[in-house]
Amino acid sequence: FFLSCFFYYLIACCQKHLLIVIGSEEESCISKKQSALYRKSSLHKPSSYLISKLRNYEELHKRCGPHSESYKRSIQQLVSGEIDNSTDCKYVVWVAFCGLGNRILSITSAFLYALLTNRVLLINQEHDMAGLFCEPFPDKSWILPEDFLFKSEISSFEQNYNHTYGNMLKSNIINASTELLPSYLFLYLSHDYDHHDKLFFCDQEQAPLSKIPWLIMKSNVYFLPSLFLIPSFEQELNKLFPDKETVFHHLGRYLFHPSNQVWRLIIKYYQDYLAKAEKRIGIQIRVFDVETSPFEYVMDQILACTQKEKLLPEVDTEKPIAGRSKNRTNNAVLITSLFPGYFEKLKNMYEEHPTKTGEVVAVYQPSQEEEQQSYNNSHNIQAWVEMNLLSFSDELVTSAWSTFGYVAQGLGGVRPWILYKINQTKPDPLCGRGMSMEPCFHAPPVYDCKAKTTVDTATLVPHVRHCEDIRWGIKLF
Ligand code: GDP
Repeated sequence: FFLSCFFYYLIACCQKHLLIVIGSEEESCISKKQSALYRKSSLHKPSSYLISKLRNYEELHKRCGPHSESYKRSIQQLVSGEIDNSTDCKYVVWVAFCGLGNRILSITSAFLYALLTNRVLLINQEHDMAGLFCEPFPDKSWILPEDFLFKSEISSFEQNYNHTYGNMLKSNIINASTELLPSYLFLYLSHDYDHHDKLFFCDQEQAPLSKIPWLIMKSNVYFLPSLFLIPSFEQELNKLFPDKETVFHHLGRYLFHPSNQVWRLIIKYYQDYLAKAEKRIGIQIRVFDVETSPFEYVMDQILACTQKEKLLPEVDTEKPIAGRSKNRTNNAVLITSLFPGYFEKLKNMYEEHPTKTGEVVAVYQPSQEEEQQSYNNSHNIQAWVEMNLLSFSDELVTSAWSTFGYVAQGLGGVRPWILYKINQTKPDPLCGRGMSMEPCFHAPPVYDCKAKTTVDTATLVPHVRHCEDIRWGIKLF
């Protein structure tokens, strides 16, 4: 008895400092328990304030989550369109859009917004995202129930939808002094949003928004850095994240746990090909336009960058390979790409010639999907498998502009080497080290809400800078 008491005391003590607490229900999610065995342990400890905020959030989610009494009362407000104060539960409903990397980053942004504003996050999960993740929160699901009022129209709302906050501001249906606020609003926070949609990021707009129980948000961007520019969130964010480069790292590791099906695929591939190597190097190759980024240019860039930065050894092209050591692999290179060519070239190079250092390099690529099919469930599963495999890398090379790479670097906790974008000509330099492991917000607002003028939002606070890969983007560091 005393022993088991001591054991539970130990677990309770340890879990106080953990991002996730493994309760009886979470035991069904293998990756929650096992990911620490495969990922490098984080060099960055979450603040105790973040931990307690997450535990409080979990309580809120349990009280207000789907099918709770409070949820039912909140739904009645949604149906009537009026705020009746019958419950203090408020929600952010996130609506899926674009590729998996974009989705993961915008969910994380929506979650931080929910944490800051005491809302519950629910995600509108279409069939294409089914079975990718374990439930992140104990006891209650984060998936928007099927019988949600706007379920049929929710995924099709666009920027020009009359009920978006931006359009309601534009047509003066709503303004900062409106007293009779609706019980729900649509927020359009996607890459092509307009000036009025972007007013969401103004402090004075947050006060009326805070009274609205249901915010239905469509977003495909990592808008999180712009939350750091809203003065009323500043103090809380400083307490949550004393180290600004770790925001996605912690929140991503907290929210996104591969489902058991995905985890088995990840672990099988890892054990089969990567586990035995002394060093794992991930190279994520994302070519957005084959016309402007020709194969030879990208290939030259990868070789020049990995050799110059001493990530991979050079080969001696004068000599053929002398015979391969079956048992020894110094470096396992994991290539992820929609196309097979880069992998084939690199693999042949290391199979045909010895390296100048004598190291053995093995090259692998888990899939060659050829085309992005973000509305296909098994395609998204494969993408999620590869983001995770990349996140196990000791060194990571990513492609500019790609949210797929941002997710891998953030989950892995590594600052990547970024292959800068090729646009007809080769960039100079070809690649560079990321200043932080944070993702880039590709479409930040450039509006000073007080002065009502344009401003460079990368100059306002010391921890927000322009991204290395997108000159107008902003990121935390
Ligand atoms: P981004 O477009 O690079 O910012 O990344 P996203 O993840 O948002 O969208 C790209 C999508 O294309 C991915 O989610 C995958 O569906 C697919 N894709 C792109 N690159 C790869 C890859 O290397 N491997 C796999 N399996 N899928 C990829």
